[in-house]
Parts: sequence; structure tokens; C-alpha cells
Amino acid sequence: MARQLLIATHNPGKVREYRALLADLPLALVSLADLGIQEAVEETGSTFQENAERKARAYAARTGLWTWADDSGLEVDALGGRPGIHSARYAGPDATDQERCYRLLAELQGHPRPWRARFRCAVALVRPEDGQEAVCHGTLEGQIIHTPRGTHGFGYDPIFYLPDRGRTLAELSPAEKNRISHRARAAAAARRVLARWLAQPPGQGPDSR
Ligand code: IMP
Repeated sequence: MARQLLIATHNPGKVREYRALLADLPLALVSLADLGIQEAVEETGSTFQENAERKARAYAARTGLWTWADDSGLEVDALGGRPGIHSARYAGPDATDQERCYRLLAELQGHPRPWRARFRCAVALVRPEDGQEAVCHGTLEGQIIHTPRGTHGFGYDPIFYLPDRGRTLAELSPAEKNRISHRARAAAAARRVLARWLAQPPGQGPDSR
């Protein structure tokens, strides 16, 4: 049976994207939902990397599985990089994606355009049997537009515009988004780490940071 890799997120949109991005690796992907784990690890770090590491370490310790955790968010230049690590809770804990988009647009009124922004993602990997860890990063540059467009994706995708494609992220097919997204870029680097780990018996590799 293939070795299991825990995709440690409660976000079904991310699980879907990672299943597609990692489909060809000889690993059996399991999610927190598959394992019936409901607890969330608090994101108390001050960077995407710290939050990703906290989650990966906590769920690896709990399950004993190789664990993949990420933290991601949107940085808007006119807002000094906000919402950043607070992207998920930006309009309050129970807000919808649509409410978060409109809150952001309301804050941006009055700021000169273009509203430059980027998505960032950090992926942390933990291999509990010998304590190896790695962190990989990805970014996607774009602009915030004031009218949401498109129905794919999640989160801020309908207001995140890619000037060179003339479309928002929500107007790209899932396959197109998976080729260029911040998560895809961090995941591509993390895949290379996993490929090394798969080729390496436990306890024999250098720390892969
Ligand atoms: P995380 O689950 O703590 O990484 O929170 C990330 C938050 O940033 C999500 O809830 C979204 O609001 C936003 N976000 C991250 N990645 C994306 C993306 O690919 N599209 C749209 N919004 C995203």
C-alpha cells in the first residue's frame, strides 16, 4: 500500500486543489476530514511560514503521518499588505467569501488604482519518523478589481485579476488555476522535497531545509 500523506487542512477547496496537483505521486492522500479530525491548530504565527509549520508539526505529532500543511493569503499593497495572514478571518469569523471580497473592496475605495496585490502560500512538510522538515513558498501577482467576475475557485478569486490574461482567477478553469497559482508554485517545490523523501530511507537524509 502506498505511504500516506496527510493534507492537513479543513478547507475543501484546498484539498481539491492539492489532490489534483499531487495526483501522480506514489502517495495516498488523506485529509483531516478523512481521519475525522475536527480540531483546528491556532494560527498564532506572524508569517505564513510560521503558521504552516505550526500546523504541519501539530498534525504530524498527532497522526504520525507525513504531513503537508499550508498557510496562504492575499497581500494588497494599498493596504500595507493586509489582509495577509488574516485573509481567512478578515470580515469576521463567520463571514462568507463574498462578504470578505466586499469588505476588501469597501476598504480600497478612495485608494488610487491599479490596486496591486499578490497571493502568497507557504507549504510546510514534516516527516515525523526522523523529524525532517521543509518549507516551500509560492506567489502570484495580480490586481484587485472592483466588480467580482467568474464562478470558479474560492475566497478572493472573483476580484483577483491577472492583467496578462485579462481574466480573474475565478474565470480560469480549475486546471488553469492549478498551473499558475501561488499554491501550485509552492506545491511544485514541495513535490520535489517529497520525491527526495520517497527515495530516502528514514534517518539517512540530511535535513532538507
Ligand atoms: P488559510 O486557510 O489560513 O491559508 O487562509 C487563506 C485565506 O486566504 C482563504 O480563506 C482565502 O480567503 C484566501 N486565499 C488563499 N488562497 C486563495 C486562493 O487561491 N484564492 C482565493 N483566496 C485565497
